[in-house]
Amino acid sequence: MQHRVVVVGAGFGGLQLVQDLKGAGCAVTLIDQRNHHLFQPLLYQVATTLLATSEIAWPIRRILRSREDVTTLLATVEGVDRQKREVIINGRSRVPFDTLVLATGARHAYFGNDRWEADAPGLKTLEDATTIRRRLLLAFERAELSDDEAEREALLTFAVVGAGPTGVELAGIIAELAQRVLPPEFRRIDTRRARILLIEAGPRILQAFTEDLSAYAARTLEKSGVEIRTGVPVTDCLAEGIVLGDQPIAARTVIWAAGVQASPAQAWLGAEADRAGRVLVDPTLAVPGDPAIFVIGDTAHVETDGRLVPGIAPAAKQQGSYVARAIRARLAGRPAPAPFRYRHMGNLATIGRNAAVIDFGRFKLKGWLAWWVWGVAHIYFLIGARSRLIVSLSWLWSYISGHNSARLITQKETLRKG
Ligand SMILES: Cc1cc2nc3c(=O)[nH]c(=O)nc-3n(C[C@H](O)[C@H](O)[C@H](O)COP(=O)(O)OP(=O)(O)OC[C@H]3O[C@@H](n4cnc5c(N)ncnc54)[C@H](O)[C@@H]3O)c2cc1C
Repeated sequence: MQHRVVVVGAGFGGLQLVQDLKGAGCAVTLIDQRNHHLFQPLLYQVATTLLATSEIAWPIRRILRSREDVTTLLATVEGVDRQKREVIINGRSRVPFDTLVLATGARHAYFGNDRWEADAPGLKTLEDATTIRRRLLLAFERAELSDDEAEREALLTFAVVGAGPTGVELAGIIAELAQRVLPPEFRRIDTRRARILLIEAGPRILQAFTEDLSAYAARTLEKSGVEIRTGVPVTDCLAEGIVLGDQPIAARTVIWAAGVQASPAQAWLGAEADRAGRVLVDPTLAVPGDPAIFVIGDTAHVETDGRLVPGIAPAAKQQGSYVARAIRARLAGRPAPAPFRYRHMGNLATIGRNAAVIDFGRFKLKGWLAWWVWGVAHIYFLIGARSRLIVSLSWLWSYISGHNSARLITQKETLRKG
């Protein structure tokens, strides 16, 4: 019988692994709770009306259509029976494995305040992105309807919590919407009066970048109308707004871009985990004492050169490739590859139109050139010529016309006055 490899999660890590197992001679089962692979780095552009959902996600079956050795299952994994070597899906069915790879990613975390999620949605899935898009657009619509000045102000206050790359990108593009895209279309409000708050509990924004790039990003955002508040944590999120330290701020739209919590793989395995729920794997990315069960990507805690491997797409892909090499070696009876080592390529973030920061270690870049490099890099990593072409055209169109085309509110909601 063929060696059975079960991969859970068709994100960056899982998909890379399956692609690298091509021709390895094993039977691969890829399980995901969604039918698509999602390019998360551009989710914020769906949330802010620049791109449509189908431009950054692709059906997993379609991607793997020519791989006879791969079976794709649309199912939710709910547990792992380590004794029987089976994965439990949809509550009852079981999928047997010889080798198991868990690549189930992470979600945003509210530091123990899960009730905040209803009022401050995070950005992780296409549903999250369309929810945020709807809330953003409805806030402007409601402000246009309202006769109450205080209510209008609250509706036109947008708070983004967390100033890592996602928070910075969101704040920059919301400012652009309010300042540049929407003004000609509203009659009763001036969308340029919108207040966009970027909140960071740490001392500065973009903490993974050098201080001068972070300072440049802060200056650029402030010039485009974003108000940056650092060094104070959000202590409450409510339907009316947030509490910053002990100061209440009326803001009807709050977006959460702070903190991550790994998927529950740790609970499925009964394995040791860090505070963010990431499974503590050994240097071969296997669960300690169980060399046939691997955990990769955002769900794994692994250190190389004494540093935690970051939760970013290139790290997940490198781990996927590494485990594929390990499985191939095992099947061929060759020695296992040397322990996993992460190669950091650099950090990139956009700060709105015509500005980005790039930190490739010795080589750093900021401004419009960085923005172009950022754009080309992201186009390159999209799947398929169609997506590359369509995203390039959408960007070009928005750049030239100043109009974002994905601005539909697709869920009916009653617009209350005021
Ligand atoms: C908004 C946002 C912006 C980002 N921007 C960048 C960026 O600019 N650059 C960068 O390098 N990284 C970025 N990242 C981080 C990057 O996307 C992640 O590090 C990467 O996706 C991790 O890959 P992964 O394979 O571990 O998990 P994911 O890509 O998250 O994939 C996990 C998969 O597992 C599936 N899954 C989860 N639970 C189950 C279950 N119980 N059963 C079945 N399937 C399940 C999910 O549906 C998903 O398809 C960003 C992340 C977000 C959220």
